[in-house]
Amino acid sequence: MHYQPQDNLLQNRIILVTGASDGIGREAALTYARFGASVILLGRNEQKLRAVANEIQAHGLHPAHWFTLDLATATPAECHTLATKLSGIVPRLDGVLHNAGILGDVTPMDKQDPQTWQAVMQVNVNATFFLTQALLPLLLKSESGSLVFTSSSVGRQGRAGWGAYAVSKFATEGMMQVLAEEYKQHNLRVNCINPGGTRTAMRASAFPTEDPAKLKTPRDLMPLYLWLMGDDSRRKTGMSFDAQPNRKPGISE
Ligand code: NDP
Repeated sequence: MHYQPQDNLLQNRIILVTGASDGIGREAALTYARFGASVILLGRNEQKLRAVANEIQAHGLHPAHWFTLDLATATPAECHTLATKLSGIVPRLDGVLHNAGILGDVTPMDKQDPQTWQAVMQVNVNATFFLTQALLPLLLKSESGSLVFTSSSVGRQGRAGWGAYAVSKFATEGMMQVLAEEYKQHNLRVNCINPGGTRTAMRASAFPTEDPAKLKTPRDLMPLYLWLMGDDSRRKTGMSFDAQPNRKPGISE
């Protein structure tokens, strides 16, 4: 995407990022902070979250808040407790990037381990929904809220072997569409990003023989991540965007 954001695109914005400890989420959190946002980092690993917060501080940006929440076990009550804590430190949320996700087993349906299946659904769908429900009141306090989910090419077109991950991403697209319609009359837009094959730990575990040098880095994707959080995308809702529109799904040759 060719997008030249203003340096202060996200000034006065408060943005929460899940899975902010690594990969695309880490890069998005750092980028949002660089463009003026106050960021709230969510993840399961305290040490990694603290390192991201320290990096933000070292650059002299708005200090980040961080909270641990393990989505593998997160309950609706825990998500509401987190939202209550948040409302004690921020007046609203202008953006939420649901980015945390797990891959599960890349294997045919008849070999999908039911327990892993449930873990993928819990992290990618159920906990994402619990968190959304808990955070909606804070998002609705924004004059221009942006709720962004993370999809995948296998969440739009099923492909052999992608099992629970693909099904969870179809569910994510569905959740985005339902919410987008429900909040059409409000100041809240709801969209999906499909990052496309990106140089992260998750991608390496899905395609262990692939040369990572052939993949875009999380930083390369940031124009779309910025655009969807800022006012330049104000009228867009209910849509699923590709961070790498010309990239064919699958292994990079
Ligand atoms: P990574 O595995 O690099 O990072 C995933 C992030 O999610 C990490 O911060 C991780 O935390 C966090 N996370 C995982 N499980 C939990 C949990 N139980 N509770 C809380 N946080 C958790 O993945 P990517 O950056 O590659 O992926 C980010 C998103 O993009 C995912 O939704 C993925 O499905 C999607 N995507 C990625 C593609 C790619 O090629 N990379 C392609 C298409 C979609 P921790 O640091 O503790 O592990």
